[in-house]
Amino acid sequence: MKIKIDIDRQRFSYDIYHLIQAFYPGAELVMRIGDHPGENRAADEESTPDLTFTIRTGDGTFAFMSEPGTIRETIGYNVDAPSAIQKNQLKKLVYTSIAKKNGTALPWGDLSGIRPVKLAEEILAGGAGPDEAAGKMTELYCVSAEKAALACGIAALEEKVLAPIPLADGYSLYINIPFCPSICLYCTFGSNPVGQCRDLVDPYLAALKKELLAIRSLAGEKKLTSVYIGGGTPTSIRPDQMDVLLRFLAETFPMEETCEFTVEAGRPDTITEEMLRVLKKHRVTRISINPQTMNQRTLDLIGRRHTAGDIVRAFFLAREAGFDNINMDIIVGLPGEGEEEVNRTLEAVRELKPDGFTVHSLALKRAARLNLFRDVYAPISFENSDAIMNRTAESANLLGMHPYYLYRQKNMAGNFENVGYSRPGRECLYNILIMEEKQTVLAAGCGASSKFVRGDGRIDRAANVKSLTDYLNRTDEMISRKLAAARASGLF
Ligand code: SF4
Repeated sequence: MKIKIDIDRQRFSYDIYHLIQAFYPGAELVMRIGDHPGENRAADEESTPDLTFTIRTGDGTFAFMSEPGTIRETIGYNVDAPSAIQKNQLKKLVYTSIAKKNGTALPWGDLSGIRPVKLAEEILAGGAGPDEAAGKMTELYCVSAEKAALACGIAALEEKVLAPIPLADGYSLYINIPFCPSICLYCTFGSNPVGQCRDLVDPYLAALKKELLAIRSLAGEKKLTSVYIGGGTPTSIRPDQMDVLLRFLAETFPMEETCEFTVEAGRPDTITEEMLRVLKKHRVTRISINPQTMNQRTLDLIGRRHTAGDIVRAFFLAREAGFDNINMDIIVGLPGEGEEEVNRTLEAVRELKPDGFTVHSLALKRAARLNLFRDVYAPISFENSDAIMNRTAESANLLGMHPYYLYRQKNMAGNFENVGYSRPGRECLYNILIMEEKQTVLAAGCGASSKFVRGDGRIDRAANVKSLTDYLNRTDEMISRKLAAARASGLF
């Protein structure tokens, strides 16, 4: 389906685009802003859309129309009101009009951002209790009662978890290791197959050390709250290489004062006794072993190149090595997986009794990458539903877990969310800090992005290049970028 959005004002266009996209996942959207056809000029001029939405914003009146269709709505707005208020009014008009026309509601209402918990937190900060705040979220943004309660419950819990931590005086550290044993077909992280670039691992670690030394001198006396090594799959490198990296961290940073030290050990085929011994020796407190699915057919289909049995074996090895905070990630909406397949995965995860459990909905961007291989996937469906999301929440509940962080992605199948659950006291601090933008995160490695969180909530960013070879060639430039952003923030 092709949809044209004709809007006369640039400043509302981004949010309106994503709101309409949420109603029509998978549709081709072409946007015309004022007299400008936008990036999809060729498509815009060459084919006729199945549906056109027109938005006019002049003279204190928002007008929203569809062609063909029944939408002809107008509302007045205060031209002197702040832009954010005007935008919310327009989004509400567009949302309620399409919901009425299609007879559908979206679980997250007219919210198009990826951090609904931040809004819940703002409402709670105004003095409302969780129930009242949830009601307000529904009233303001048309969010379903269930999702509003989820966001407000998480916001209240996060506040409790973060209360004892001196966030303003500290920072967190993120290190990216961009290697994996094989590349999953839906991967959008730009990871590299470690088998084909073994000779780049040591140079990469050397470049990382250089960047980490710069971070260390930038941080000075600030406290190190949490450390997160992600990827990629960090445990794809050899145990002796991991040992060198972690020893360097211990010698360079005040690791003894950190509240949490996570290493993603996502792929079970990278987890060995030796690797676990290295992680334990360097006081890693939390690891993540990510099955994504426990159905062998799907694992084969998405290119994971390990068995469901490998996941169970890796999990017990980690328990035997003494890890008492193990998270497991699953993805719902994988090709060919419906409620029955997800239930099978959930049962297998429940048997293992992890300490954390993160549920990701497959974003359509990733599904689109799977579509590149449509010869293989043509007869296979991508499914996600309320029922499936409810099963995942029930499983977390049966494991004695509560939801502690949440985020959404653009163009997510079914307009759902990603939710992290954990047993009480096993919440991942770093996940909360990065998602709610509560603390400065200094990041090292290719594709890593540093965020400088100012006292007034404003954020400065410094992103490293994504490509491994660019990073190796331009490490000094990445360091300079970070230092410039740090200076601009006034925090360092
Ligand atoms: S494990 Fe994650 S980072 Fe590695 S290839 Fe698969 S999706 Fe990408």
